[in-house]
Amino acid sequence: MYRLGFHVSIAQGFLKVFDNAKFVGANCCQIFTHSPRSWTFNLISEDVGKLFREKYSKEDIKPIIVHDSYLPNLASESKEMLDKSIDSIKKEFICCNRMGIEYLNIHPGSYKKNKNDGLKLVSKSLNSIKEYVENVTLLFENTSGWGSSLGSSFEELKVLLESTDFKCGVTLDTCHLFASGYNISNEESLSQTLNLFDKTVGIENLKLIHLNDSVGMLGSKVDRHEHIGLGNIGINGFSAIINNEYLKKIPMIMETPVNEKRGDKENINFLKSMIKT
Ligand SMILES: [Zn+2]
Ligand SMILES: [Zn+2]
Repeated sequence: MYRLGFHVSIAQGFLKVFDNAKFVGANCCQIFTHSPRSWTFNLISEDVGKLFREKYSKEDIKPIIVHDSYLPNLASESKEMLDKSIDSIKKEFICCNRMGIEYLNIHPGSYKKNKNDGLKLVSKSLNSIKEYVENVTLLFENTSGWGSSLGSSFEELKVLLESTDFKCGVTLDTCHLFASGYNISNEESLSQTLNLFDKTVGIENLKLIHLNDSVGMLGSKVDRHEHIGLGNIGINGFSAIINNEYLKKIPMIMETPVNEKRGDKENINFLKSMIKT
């Protein structure tokens, strides 16, 4: 059974997340634990965490994924920034465990000098807080490769998985894949890209898909999301993705825009209309 959902708002409180997901026709979703553009991080209380866990066990909204905020950089060259970043991810783990959430999705970070040193620093930073991981699986999200961002190639994702001392997996964002140069815009190119991922990282490590079309061209490194089928991955690409025998078993979260062209309901309906039964 398909697991299709969106990134949903926590503005009305954590317990409202389930209704927000259902309202747009989703059966899984992704959330932030606090404002993603702020370092202010109020931990979810144990009481609200318990209520959330109870609701999560009953509702058919699964899985729920926490996405880290935009500010942390686990490969920062500044000690102050690095400490702040590690502390923030530590708090994400605490929140996930309180809420009974099994996946924390993070962007690896950015590093200006040697990429391999940057990747090792990400894992070292994470290993320093491993006692907080408990029941959570950390997911490294692939990036578009813009600037000095880490994690845009399968080889880099492999290094991260191998250097981190606890349970980890990978999120593949379709927009980031395409922007970083992996073609997925038709069935043949998708299967080549997945074969390459399997050979390099191991397909069993793929735990989540971020389903976004791409404003930028193949290899452009531009991280701008478009509605499903309206970008450069296009209808052929998403039809191949949604009907792929392996991918259809992986939860898919859309982080698509909401604007005059479409909202979330239109995107999920469009996606569902492409499913071949
Ligand atoms: Zn994403
Ligand atoms: Zn993105």
